[in-house]
Amino acid sequence: MLLTSPWRSDFPALAAFAGEGQTYLDSAATAQKPQAMIAALCDYYQGGAANVHRAQHLPGERATRAFEQVREQLASWLNAGSSEQIIFTRGSTEAVNLLTYGLEHEFQAGDEIVISALEHHANLLPWQQLAQRRNLKLLVLPLDASGDIDLVAAQQLIGPRCRLLAISQLSNVLGRWLPLTELLALAKAQDALTVVDGAQGAVHSQPDMQALGCDFYLFSSHKLYGPDGLGVLYGRGEALQRLRHWQFGGEMVQACDYQQASFRPAPLGFEAGTPPIAAVLGLGASLSYLCGLDAIAVAAHEAALHRQLLHGLNSRAGIQLLGTPQVALACFTVAGVHHSDLAQLLTEQGIAVRAGQHCAMPLLASLGVSGALRVSLALYNDGNDLARFFSALDQALELLQ
Ligand code: PMP
Repeated sequence: MLLTSPWRSDFPALAAFAGEGQTYLDSAATAQKPQAMIAALCDYYQGGAANVHRAQHLPGERATRAFEQVREQLASWLNAGSSEQIIFTRGSTEAVNLLTYGLEHEFQAGDEIVISALEHHANLLPWQQLAQRRNLKLLVLPLDASGDIDLVAAQQLIGPRCRLLAISQLSNVLGRWLPLTELLALAKAQDALTVVDGAQGAVHSQPDMQALGCDFYLFSSHKLYGPDGLGVLYGRGEALQRLRHWQFGGEMVQACDYQQASFRPAPLGFEAGTPPIAAVLGLGASLSYLCGLDAIAVAAHEAALHRQLLHGLNSRAGIQLLGTPQVALACFTVAGVHHSDLAQLLTEQGIAVRAGQHCAMPLLASLGVSGALRVSLALYNDGNDLARFFSALDQALELLQ
């Protein structure tokens, strides 16, 4: 039976893609946008743009109010306690970079930062740079045979010199949830700071900061059906106070003269310069749209599509899945076929999937593959998308194998 998505028509890009013969199966890279979000962007620009936090005039006041309402909305969505714990960044990548500069003073030579073997480059390279700057050790939690974090090894690695643990919530390659409760408990037992990269996880879960108990949590708007150029960084109250300012400029300053300055606390102290105002309003609209959907129905739809995706891949000869994905995506290789050749043939047939190293080069190297294809799903995908993908895949494999 072909699955249909009751939400597909809320996303105008899907109709545009259909007109071009494109099948979009790359939502883990970036998601398409609901009409409600596009309308919010148009409303803001058509109603009159204005900068936030600095003008007394009506448009400025209106923009500031709407902007701060989205911060409140995010705090409530994340169960964060207070909107002062929500910092807007330019994306997940910038949020991690902010943390590596903002927390640099916490580390002494020889201290340890622990990450996992499956981190996206965004949650690896900034820590690697910090480790090099401060002469720290970057330790990597290994995976077991099924692609999960090896918790026995984690117990050994998260030791007394661990000052910070930075891990993903959901892998963008393996599609598996990380055992956050266990890992965060191990880090807290050592009094280490904890950072969770929710770039993929926030899209497929309802993140709850009080329940999770991490010090920092971050994600990107564009993967959560919102505009690009915007990220969200949550910080626990006490941990936020430990952050030092990192970017300097307009509206983050309390007072300054030519030689000295004092800075505002979070969140505004960490939002130097004009923030992505329209994007913030757009994310607010995307969140309102998502919160208006039946979350159980969305999860059931995505799970049914995912089962069909895995079944289709597993039933084809020569296809090797990377791990056993639990949600929304699957990475795979094909015996004897280079991933870029297969990607090229799929592209020619209008199938938009991702091929390559998925910004996780060390993980792919450790799995012994030079690259892989990734199919990723969102709530607007349907059985037709999968049928077109599998038909294109079969044709491509017939040519290549
Ligand atoms: N972490 C993970 C797990 C991701 O999948 C991504 C995006 N592919 C990022 C971080 C970086 O997100 P952005 O490019 O939006 O900064």
